[in-house]
Amino acid sequence: MATIGFIGLGNMGAPMARNLIAAGHRLHVYDVSPDAVAATVAAGAAAAPDIARLARGAEFVITMLPAGEQVREVYLGPDGAIAAAAPSTTLIDCSTIDVATARAVSAAAVSAGLDMIDAPVSGGVAGAEAGTLIFMVGGEARVYAAAEPILRVMGKTVLHTGGPGNGQAAKICNNLILGISMIAVCEAFVLAESLGLPAQTLFDVASTSSGQCWSLTSYCPVPGPVPGSPANRGYQPGFTAALMLKDLRLAGAAGGDAVLPLRDRAAALYADFVDSGGGASDFSAIIEGIRRMAVESG
Ligand code: NAD
Repeated sequence: MATIGFIGLGNMGAPMARNLIAAGHRLHVYDVSPDAVAATVAAGAAAAPDIARLARGAEFVITMLPAGEQVREVYLGPDGAIAAAAPSTTLIDCSTIDVATARAVSAAAVSAGLDMIDAPVSGGVAGAEAGTLIFMVGGEARVYAAAEPILRVMGKTVLHTGGPGNGQAAKICNNLILGISMIAVCEAFVLAESLGLPAQTLFDVASTSSGQCWSLTSYCPVPGPVPGSPANRGYQPGFTAALMLKDLRLAGAAGGDAVLPLRDRAAALYADFVDSGGGASDFSAIIEGIRRMAVESG
């Protein structure tokens, strides 16, 4: 069993940490929120007084932080994880961040003689709780192999997607498909409403025809056809519209000058929805914004 330092015990990090504890690993945890630390200590972790002391004794350091800014702070700061960790330590960043930061932090780790992978996840809070996340891992094959058994405790699928930063690249490309496909499905249901075509009928046709996709068949944005989808519980997340907007903006930042028209349009639609108060709803609630636009314009 490994000694693991875990930093970032929020909606995702806390259940991931609990699964590692349940599998018998020794966890030392840190978060800027004392309440978050206390909750994971109650599940069997030891509280680390600071990041340096957490990193010093760890075989693995795992981070699950909001964005690139916190990842830089935690790894690159003068009292950060890279400065403190022993050379044999493997660093695993599971946060969803920009590709440039992932590559910069990984390069700093390698310069300090440490191993690092970026390992963002898909699967949301439910996947973190159930230990069924999907990990997309960027980094050297040797480091991937060393980290894989730890990631398998928290996930059902662990994919090596290439060198440093390629985990983040895979994650934002996947979420680009998801964000756009959800809007397409929502537009079809809104159009069907205006044409007098029942939602269940559209679902029966499209789910067995060429319109079939995950946003329709697993995460249907109208209540009824897929009983487990957030539409059936008032769009409680799930995966919030604010996080979808974050990922689409990361896809924007990563694209350089490349024109990707639907990425930009999708980001604008989610931004409007978030600005109008929808940020904490599931991202499939974007159908409400699209319905509003259709009514106002039609
Ligand atoms: P969260 O805000 O619930 O948790 C983040 C945690 O990090 C908080 O407990 C916060 O106190 C802590 N933190 C912030 N700055 C810190 C610092 N400098 N040092 C130590 N701790 C610090 O966020 P979350 O929903 O758990 O998401 C974490 C990451 O996972 C994000 O990058 C997000 O995009 C990604 N993600 C989230 C989901 C989801 O459904 N929530 C799904 C996939 C990926």
